[in-house]
Amino acid sequence: MAHVVVLGAGLGGAIMAYELKDQLRPEDKVTVVTKDPKYHFVPSNPWIAVGWRDREDITVDLAPVMQKKGIAFIPVAAERLIPEEDRVLLVDGNSVPYDYLVIATGPELAFDEVPGLGPQGFTQSICHIDHAEATKAVFEKLVANPGPVVIGAAQGASCFGPAYEFLFILETALRRAKVRDRVPMTFVTPEPYVGHLGLDGVGDTKGLLESQMREKHIKWMTNTRVKRVEEGHMFVEEVGDDGVAKPEKDLPFAFSMMLPAFRGIKPVAGIEGLSNPRGFTIVDKHQRNPMYPNVFAVGVCVAIPPMGPTPVPCGVPKTGFMIESMVTATAHNIGNIVRGKEPDSIGTWNAVCLADFGDGGIAFVAQPQIPPRNVNWSSSGKWVHLAKAGFEKYFIRKLRKGTSEPFYESLALKVLGIDKLKQTTKG
Ligand SMILES: Cc1cc2nc3c(=O)[nH]c(=O)nc-3n(C[C@H](O)[C@H](O)[C@H](O)COP(=O)(O)OP(=O)(O)OC[C@H]3O[C@@H](n4cnc5c(N)ncnc54)[C@H](O)[C@@H]3O)c2cc1C
Repeated sequence: MAHVVVLGAGLGGAIMAYELKDQLRPEDKVTVVTKDPKYHFVPSNPWIAVGWRDREDITVDLAPVMQKKGIAFIPVAAERLIPEEDRVLLVDGNSVPYDYLVIATGPELAFDEVPGLGPQGFTQSICHIDHAEATKAVFEKLVANPGPVVIGAAQGASCFGPAYEFLFILETALRRAKVRDRVPMTFVTPEPYVGHLGLDGVGDTKGLLESQMREKHIKWMTNTRVKRVEEGHMFVEEVGDDGVAKPEKDLPFAFSMMLPAFRGIKPVAGIEGLSNPRGFTIVDKHQRNPMYPNVFAVGVCVAIPPMGPTPVPCGVPKTGFMIESMVTATAHNIGNIVRGKEPDSIGTWNAVCLADFGDGGIAFVAQPQIPPRNVNWSSSGKWVHLAKAGFEKYFIRKLRKGTSEPFYESLALKVLGIDKLKQTTKG
C-alpha cells in the first residue's frame, strides 16, 4: 500500500486527488491536506468584485465529495514540510506521513514587496474570494462617488490575465452604472508592451488589447514599477529599454486593484534542493523534485523561469489548462511508480485562456508556451464571455460531483474544437 498526500486543494490539488484515485491501485490511499475546507473557483473572483456572482455560486464543499470518493480529507494548514522525514507538520502540531507527496499550494501573495500595496495597504485585490468580497464594498463606494481608477500588476507579477479581465469587467460595470464618464482609467503594468502577458504575447494579444483600451478610453503605462502606494496615490516609475528609470509619477486614485508578484508559501519555501529562492518548488519534466524524488508539484507553486529578460521583471503565468496538464502527468507518473515502473508522462504546459471583459473577451492558445510556437492563436468577441460563464458552471458542477475527467482538456476539445491540444506526451 502506498500513501499519497496532496498538499492544497485549489484548482490543482482538488483535481489531483480525483485523478490519483483513478491512477493508483485499489489498496493505495490518498489524503488531501488543505488550509481551506471549501474550494472557491478563483477565475470567478473578478465577477465577485463587481457583484455579478455571490460566494455560494463559486464554492464547493470538498469534505463530502472527498469522502464519497474515498479520499481522506484533513482541513488543517501545513506548518512545515519535512522532506527528509517524509512528513508534513500541521499547524495543530500533528504530522501527516507520506510515501509520495504532491505539493499544490498555489501562491503566497507578495504584497509586502511594495509599501502600501494590497488589502492591508491602500489597493484592492481579487486573488482570494475574501479579497474580492472586500473589493466589492469599495467598488460600490466608487459608483456612489466616482473618481480615477488605477488597475494593473506590480513588478514581478506573472498573472496578468486577471488584471486585464478586471480592468474591462470594471469598465463594463461602471458603464452599466452610468458613471463611466466620471472615471478616468489607467492600466499600469511591468509588461514591456500591452498584451505581453508574461508570454511575449500570443497571436495578436498586443493589437487586440490595445485596440480595446483605445476604444474604451483607457490609458496605459508599460515597463512600469510601483514604488509605493499611499492613501489615494500610487507612485510609479517607467523604465526605459536601457534600464534607466524616468522621473517618478504620482497617479491619484479613488479605487485601485493591483495583482501582486507571487512566491511559494512559507511551509514549503527555503528547503535546500526543493525550492528556488522565491519558494517555488523545483520539478523535472515528470513534475518530480530532483532532490526528493517522492515529492511532486503542480500548479502555481511550480518553479518556471521567466520567458526572457524585460526592463521590469515579469513572471510566466500558470493557467488552468497548463495546471491540468501537470496534474494528469503527475497522476500517471505516480501510478507507474507504485507499480514499479518508471515515470513517463510529461505535461505539455500549453496555455489555453479565456479572458472575460464583461460583455466580450479574448481567447488565446499558445502551443508550446514559449515562442516560436506551432499554435499561436488569439481571437475576441462576445462568445468568449459566454464560453467563460459556461465553463465556470461546467467546472464547478464536475468538482461537486467528483468527476475526474480532465476539465480543461474536455473544454478545449468540446467547446473550442481544438483537437490537437493533448495535455501529456510520453518521454
Ligand atoms: C484572480 C485570478 C483569476 C484567474 N483566472 C484564471 C482563468 O480565468 N483561467 C486560468 O486558466 N487561470 C486563471 N488563474 C490562474 C490559475 O488558474 C489560478 O490561480 C489557480 O487557482 C491556481 O491553482 P493552484 O492549485 O496552483 O492554486 P490555488 O487554487 O490557489 O490553490 C492553493 C491551495 O493551497 C492551499 N494552501 C495554501 N496554503 C496552505 C498551507 N499552509 N497548508 C495547506 N494548504 C494550503 C489553499 O487553501 C488552496 O486550497 C487566475 C488566477 C487569479 C489569481
